[in-house]
Amino acid sequence: MTATLLDGAETARAIREELRGEIQALAARGVRPGLGVVLVGDNSASASYVRSKTRVCEELGVFHETAHLPATSTTEEVAARVQDYNQRADIHGILVQLPLPPQVDSEKVLALVRPEKDVDGFHAVNVGRLVQKRPGFVACTPAGVMELLQRYKIPIAGRRAVVLGRSDIVGKPMALLLLHADATVTVCHSKTADLPAVTREGDILIAAIGRAGFVRAEHVKPGAVVIDVGINRITDPAAARDLLDATRFADFEKKGSAMVGDVHFPSVREKASMITPVPGGVGPLTIALLMKNTVKAASLST
Ligand code: NAP
Repeated sequence: MTATLLDGAETARAIREELRGEIQALAARGVRPGLGVVLVGDNSASASYVRSKTRVCEELGVFHETAHLPATSTTEEVAARVQDYNQRADIHGILVQLPLPPQVDSEKVLALVRPEKDVDGFHAVNVGRLVQKRPGFVACTPAGVMELLQRYKIPIAGRRAVVLGRSDIVGKPMALLLLHADATVTVCHSKTADLPAVTREGDILIAAIGRAGFVRAEHVKPGAVVIDVGINRITDPAAARDLLDATRFADFEKKGSAMVGDVHFPSVREKASMITPVPGGVGPLTIALLMKNTVKAASLST
């Protein structure tokens, strides 16, 4: 069996198109959704993520502003930018790009974001609402995975879902969303014993661990739906040869690096029924859901 590809880029495009209508309706009421970004330091990956997000803001006509602070900023300086966005009427969503430099207290900064502007869904109030299945903002990556499953009409209720990874931003909210959709959910982590036996129970397997090509055919139930959240940059030619097809390997040789997921795509593709590629899978959905949350925040603010 060769798995069907779940096209995250196309699904993200469909979500963005739907948002255009909502943005027009808001404009008719005199509201333009606005996203305030706080970017600290010169981490090139963070800068590139922020660029991708603000590019989509521009495509949709969402106002955006980035406060780019020096790497030496203190917690108080970063907090002041959050407080500024908290108070502004033209900013409906606040995004603090992580990671923050080590001298900045990330927890303190994130806790300052007003829950109604917390479009990343990281604030304890929104996490609590998610636990209780009450309305609020949900972290964009797991919310994007749910959109993908729903739009491809993948049955969830009554099925076994295994989430590999238990981070606050992906694994835990992912598990809660699947639970609320009536899956029977297992969460695995680095201390899980006999991991392949546990992940093989999943009709739906979500990989979010940050280990290039870690999930192999032995981890996957035949016919499972496999969602690869991982984003890993590889520079080792042996790993690249193992993980990439000929076209992507040629590209790797030119650039010296490539982006891969947590799933060993060549082997898992032959065992799963459906699979997300990397790139072009979950990544674009995360940004689409950030836009959806920002439009929702703007809509709720009026
Ligand atoms: P994280 O905070 O580093 O958490 C990783 C999780 O994986 C932890 O729970 C860890 O277990 C578990 N883990 C690590 N190695 C393992 C192993 N060998 N066996 C079993 N479990 C293992 O990572 P994250 O922020 O959730 O991100 C995960 C991946 O998703 C990364 O590649 C990240 O770049 C990617 N990501 C992608 C998007 C997107 O838009 N597509 C968004 C966010 C993140 P312990 O808890 O026991 O340490």
